[in-house]
Amino acid sequence: MSNSSARPTPKPGVLDIEAYVPGKSRAPDGVKLHKLSSNETPFGASPSVQDALRSVAGHLELYPDGQAGALKSAIAKAHGLEPQRILCGNGSDELLGLLAQAFLAPGDEAIHTEHGFLVYDIYIRAAGATPVVARERDERADVDAILGRVSARTKIVFLANPNNPTGTYLPEGEIRRLHASLPSHVVLVLDAAYAEYVRREDYISGLELVEEFDNVVMTRTFSKIHGLAALRIGWMVGPEAIVDALDRIRGPFNLNAMAIAGGAAAIADREHVEKSVRFNDEWLEKLTRGLTALGLRVTPSVGNFLLVHFADEAGRTAADADAFLTTRGFILRRVSGYGFPNALRLTIGSAEANEGVLVALGEFLRA
Ligand SMILES: *Cc1c(COP(=O)(O)O)cnc(C)c1O
Repeated sequence: MSNSSARPTPKPGVLDIEAYVPGKSRAPDGVKLHKLSSNETPFGASPSVQDALRSVAGHLELYPDGQAGALKSAIAKAHGLEPQRILCGNGSDELLGLLAQAFLAPGDEAIHTEHGFLVYDIYIRAAGATPVVARERDERADVDAILGRVSARTKIVFLANPNNPTGTYLPEGEIRRLHASLPSHVVLVLDAAYAEYVRREDYISGLELVEEFDNVVMTRTFSKIHGLAALRIGWMVGPEAIVDALDRIRGPFNLNAMAIAGGAAAIADREHVEKSVRFNDEWLEKLTRGLTALGLRVTPSVGNFLLVHFADEAGRTAADADAFLTTRGFILRRVSGYGFPNALRLTIGSAEANEGVLVALGEFLRA
């Protein structure tokens, strides 16, 4: 006989997960909102996306293409890839989750770095596996520390390059050194959500490694530079065997029809991307200089956001700055959950927002 007082219980690990807390998006009444909390682009999506969405809107009764064929072809064309090595997801978050589900079982370990993207921890635990944290050095991933955490149980290494929320990156030589020392059965997942923004000769997103090796996967997103966070579109490229495994466990219609059509239109608009990169480059430098001139330490970033550190004195903490900026309509991201209790992450926004946040922070620091 069943015990009538027993309640349904999630499997081990699930209740150890800290639910993800997204960036805030509200300003006080009557104050103009500048949402600089989720690394969204100030440019919005390519204008061509609107037309693509309108054409889908007339046929919402139809199931989407379960293969997301039009989107895969557009991605393959833009990056010179074979469509059969691409898999699309409901955001790259879904793909990270599918990788964990496919490769991690209870008893297995997956490594992420100290200040790495929080979503990895969630998916590792959800798969019943054990997250293993590798220390960073100077707010940057450390290849030796990652290799030092590899054990016989390691199945995946998740590395955001560049990382969020630090904005730092590992150059090609370090990525190759990491890969060369990993056992060949370990999947190296390179999360390149901000790849388009990076302008460094020694940076590789991972596409190059996927061509060369059987255990490297690279993920990208339409949520950042393509300005389609609302549609939830991510993609990955990997060895056919890994793509095939994930294809078996994903939802049959994991991308909706708007996402397929909108994403295909967005990735074809190179000019929109280039314009965004130029603007970001200019403001990454201006904001870094401006914040440093205010006496704030800024982690050197190659992304579309900056990690800004506050002093420990009373009245000058990240929490105080956050509260002050919110009254002015500037919404930044608290990053305590990432191991930075006294820092805020600032997304590069419109010129008006960037100039405004510098002025407001100046007032805060003088107050
Ligand atoms: C924003 C971000 C993503 C993208 O997530 P989506 O699910 O595609 O919106 C992935 N990885 C990192 C590190 C990010 O910051």
